[in-house]
Amino acid sequence: LEAKEEFSHKTLAMDVMRPRRNDPPLTVITQDSMTVEDIETIINETTYSGYPVVVSRESQRLVGFVLRRDLIISIENARKKQDGIVSTSVIYFTDHSPPLPPSSPSMLKLRSILDLSPFTVTDQTPMEIVVDIFRKLGLRQCLVTHNGKLLGIITKKDVLKHIAQLANQDPDSILFN
Ligand code: ADP
Repeated sequence: LEAKEEFSHKTLAMDVMRPRRNDPPLTVITQDSMTVEDIETIINETTYSGYPVVVSRESQRLVGFVLRRDLIISIENARKKQDGIVSTSVIYFTDHSPPLPPSSPSMLKLRSILDLSPFTVTDQTPMEIVVDIFRKLGLRQCLVTHNGKLLGIITKKDVLKHIAQLANQDPDSILFN
């Protein structure tokens, strides 16, 4: 296989990541503007294993990654055991939370369940390298960015599906050597 030819076959992270071109956008959580109710809605309406946390919807700057199960447990616990936590309580993933007006409901701080350094690759990363990273680091998911902005997600299952697809097209794929 010539180097040039090899290059033209290369699948990039952007070809495997979700969402796909016509899919609804990535389900993200903002670091300091969503309420307990907002996040409970996300948990009830999606089944993803986790959610990227961003500075704001407009910026799409990645702050970290939070697992669905940790969110469920923490919100359940807080509702049971923490005074003043109600549906309208704002959830903070930030280091410092702003002082609240006396009339507003207690806030819920969840920075402790945030993975602050989730693995990321850029959208132009060849899948060959992404597969290697998943294997070597035992990743469950990897986030995809472009110019520092969050673009998508690739899970271990997405990678396995991609490998299976390659195997169908090209049984001698280098991924299997
Ligand atoms: P798995 O891939 O093991 O089923 P998930 O349930 O987390 O894991 O993801 C299901 C599909 O949805 C995958 O194709 C993944 O890329 C995508 N996905 C995962 N998390 C999100 C999210 N927060 N927003 C949008 N799509 C997601």
